[in-house]
Amino acid sequence: MSPTDTDAYDVVGLGFGPSNMALAIAIDEHNRRAPQESKLRTLFLDRAAEAGWHKNLLFEDASMQVAFAKDLVTFRNPMSEMTFTNFLLEQGRLADFFNRGSMAPLRIEFVAYLRWVAGKLADYVQYSSEVVRVVPRTAGGRITGYEVDIADAIGVRTVATRHLVLAGGLRPVYPEGVRAGARIWHSAEFLERAQTLDADAVRSVAVIGGGQSAAEVIEQMYSRCPNAQIHPVISRYGLVPSDASPYANRIFDPAAVDELFDTAAPVRQAITEAHRNTNNSVVNPETIAALYDIEYRDNWLGANRLHWHRATRVLSAREDYRQAGVQLTLREDLEGQTRQLEVDVAIFATGYQALDPTTLLGSHAAMLCRDEAGRPTARRDYSANTLLPDDAKLYLVGQTEHQHGISATLLSNVAVRAGEILDSILGANAAGRALAATGQVSA
Ligand SMILES: Cc1cc2nc3c(=O)[nH]c(=O)nc-3n(C[C@H](O)[C@H](O)[C@H](O)COP(=O)(O)OP(=O)(O)OC[C@H]3O[C@@H](n4cnc5c(N)ncnc54)[C@H](O)[C@@H]3O)c2cc1C
Repeated sequence: MSPTDTDAYDVVGLGFGPSNMALAIAIDEHNRRAPQESKLRTLFLDRAAEAGWHKNLLFEDASMQVAFAKDLVTFRNPMSEMTFTNFLLEQGRLADFFNRGSMAPLRIEFVAYLRWVAGKLADYVQYSSEVVRVVPRTAGGRITGYEVDIADAIGVRTVATRHLVLAGGLRPVYPEGVRAGARIWHSAEFLERAQTLDADAVRSVAVIGGGQSAAEVIEQMYSRCPNAQIHPVISRYGLVPSDASPYANRIFDPAAVDELFDTAAPVRQAITEAHRNTNNSVVNPETIAALYDIEYRDNWLGANRLHWHRATRVLSAREDYRQAGVQLTLREDLEGQTRQLEVDVAIFATGYQALDPTTLLGSHAAMLCRDEAGRPTARRDYSANTLLPDDAKLYLVGQTEHQHGISATLLSNVAVRAGEILDSILGANAAGRALAATGQVSA
C-alpha cells in the first residue's frame, strides 16, 4: 500500500471531537483568507459514524461542567460565526438560554452545538474511518511526514500528511483485574447497555466510583430499576463536591497553561494534584443534593434502596458462568475486612486514560522522547518531542496533562489550543520552505 500524491495532506487529524473540531474551525478561518498556495489541505478522521459526544452519558437533565463561552472558538475568536451564542441565535433560543440564569449548557444542548458546527465543516471530515496505524516518513535524517492507515467499510487505505494531530480523546479504564463482560460495564457505555436490561427484573446493581459519572449512573439506575437495591462503592467516605470557585477556576485559564508548562515538574505535579477536585473524582454539588434528597425521602418512606459501601475498593469482579450475575470481592477499609457482594449488574465509573500514541506508532514509537515516567513529552505547542529533527509535526492533544496541566483533557482550552496548533503548523511550514530554499530538505 502506498499513498498517492492526491492523498497528500498538509494536516490530518485523528478524531473529530471538540479538540479537532476547534482546530478545523481555526484552519477553515485560515483557508478562507489565505492565498491558494498557503491554504492547508486538511482531513479529519473519526471512527464514529457521525458527529457526537459521550453519547452513552447524554442524560436529558445533565449539565456541562463548563461555561458556554468555553466553546470551540470564543476564547480565540469571539467574532467567529461558530460560537455557541451564534448557535443559540440560529436556533431561536438566545433569550431562553440566558433567562435560565446558568452559564452551563445542558449536555444535550452542547452536543446539538457540536453537530451544528460539524455540519458546517462537513468538507473536512470523514466518519466511520478509524486510524489504525501511523508511520513516520524520514529523509536526510529528519521527519518529513506521516503515513496514516485508515480502516473503513471498504478496507484499509493509506493517506500521507505532513502534520498529524492525534486527538483521540479518552479510553475507559477498569480497576486492575476487572474485565468488561455481559454484566460488567463501564459508565462510558451506559445508555447502550442499559437499553438491553429488563429494568423491572433487576434486583441489585453495584456502581463503582465516586465521580460525576458514578453519581449520575446511581441516579439513573435508581429511577430506571424500581425493584433494585443500588450499591454505590466509593473509596472515600462520601461524595466530594467539585470546586468551581473563581480562584480555583483560574487553573483552566490559557495563562495557566504557560505557567504550568514553564514551571518545574514537581511544582506542576503538586499544583495539579491540589486542584484535581476541580474535575476528577468529584461531583457537581447539585447532583449530590439531588441524590441525597432521593435517599432522604425514601428513608422517610421506609423504602430506601441506596446502600453505600464507603472506604471500599473492588478487588475482583467475576461473572457467573451463566452470565446471570456478578460476584464482587470488596475490600472494606472501615471494617478492615474483605467481603463478597453479588449483584445483577456491576457498572464501573472508574475513569478514563488518554490515547497512547504508542499503540498507533508500534515500533516507530521509539521516535518519541519520553520523561522519567515513560510518558511521551511535547513542546509548548503540543508537538511531540522526537529523537530526529522534525519538519513535520506530530501533535499530542489531550495527552499531555503532565506538562500542560489539568485542562489538557478538558474543554476549557480547546479554542485557544487550536489557535496555538495552527500557528505552530504555519510556522513549521514556513521553516520548511526556508530550509528548502537553501537546497536542503524539501518543503
Ligand atoms: C461524560 C463526560 C462528560 C464530560 N464533560 C465535560 C465537561 O462538561 N467539561 C469539560 O471540560 N470536559 C468534560 N469532559 C471531558 C472530555 O474529555 C472533553 O470534554 C472533550 O470530549 C475532549 O475532546 P476531544 O476532542 O479531545 O476528545 P473526544 O471528545 O473524546 O473525541 C475524540 C474523538 O476521537 C475519535 N477517535 C478515537 N480514536 C480514534 C481512531 N483511532 N481513529 C479515528 N477516530 C478516533 C472518537 O470517536 C472521538 O470522536 C467530559 C467527559 C465525559 C466522559
